[in-house]
Amino acid sequence: MFVDSHCHVHVRAYQNEQDSLIKKTLESGVFMVTIGTQKNTSREAIEVAEKYEGVFATVGLHPEYVVDQTFVDENETAELYSAEVFDPFVYRSLAKSKKCVAIGECGLDYYRIPETTNREEAIQKQKQTVRAHFALADELNLPVVVHCRDAYEDQLMINQEFIDAGTLSRRGVIHCFSGSREYAHAFLDQGFYLGFTGVITFPPRKTDVLIEGLTEIQQVIREMPLDRILIETDSPYLTPIPFRGKRNEPSYVKFVAQKIAEIRGVSMEEIEQATTANAKKLFGLDL
Ligand SMILES: [Zn+2]
Ligand SMILES: [Zn+2]
Repeated sequence: MFVDSHCHVHVRAYQNEQDSLIKKTLESGVFMVTIGTQKNTSREAIEVAEKYEGVFATVGLHPEYVVDQTFVDENETAELYSAEVFDPFVYRSLAKSKKCVAIGECGLDYYRIPETTNREEAIQKQKQTVRAHFALADELNLPVVVHCRDAYEDQLMINQEFIDAGTLSRRGVIHCFSGSREYAHAFLDQGFYLGFTGVITFPPRKTDVLIEGLTEIQQVIREMPLDRILIETDSPYLTPIPFRGKRNEPSYVKFVAQKIAEIRGVSMEEIEQATTANAKKLFGLDL
């Protein structure tokens, strides 16, 4: 039994086969937390979760969608997207569903701020928005799903603000963690889980410095306390080897578990049991 702790199985990429894919995945013993990224996709995530036992949802506004820009992500929705302002009223009412197990994904993503945008303004908007998510999570006593890219210092600072104020007691997960060892330890010290995707199965890039044949992210995995690791696919994105280049799906979370077992030199069953227990504990999953 596995839990894909972060996927987007409600999105347009699965449109025609969504029902059969979810049923097949559940039958194979893989449970899912499907993650909202905007108002509409958060609503869809809840709708899908309410349809299937073993599928859970989160609601949130991805930092990418806070920034002024116009584009269409064909995977997510057919609609032309433009910046959204986080409305706690909307997200609070979606989060009332029994299937809503966390707030997010929310966070800071300085990597994807377009060059045409006022960077300082975009960063301020992202910070404001993540604080609003954290406040809502605390109010509803839910954990948070954090998306953080090229913004580790600021994310740690905001986390600490809330921790120092005695809030965010259920903490959360830094999903698709891809930072350094130092940042990994800093998030662990704050009490967060770290989520790993199919990215860990990719071969090293030319610029990677290897220690004992391991990339930095693989070293992080080797050093992690077992009770803080979550596995995820982030499907339809980030497909692991051996299916890299194709559309990702939640059942491929097994390849992430397998890679973690290989790096740590333990059995796949040990990783399966530990990560399932971790996901159940963090999100309070009824499985
Ligand atoms: Zn993300
Ligand atoms: Zn995601």
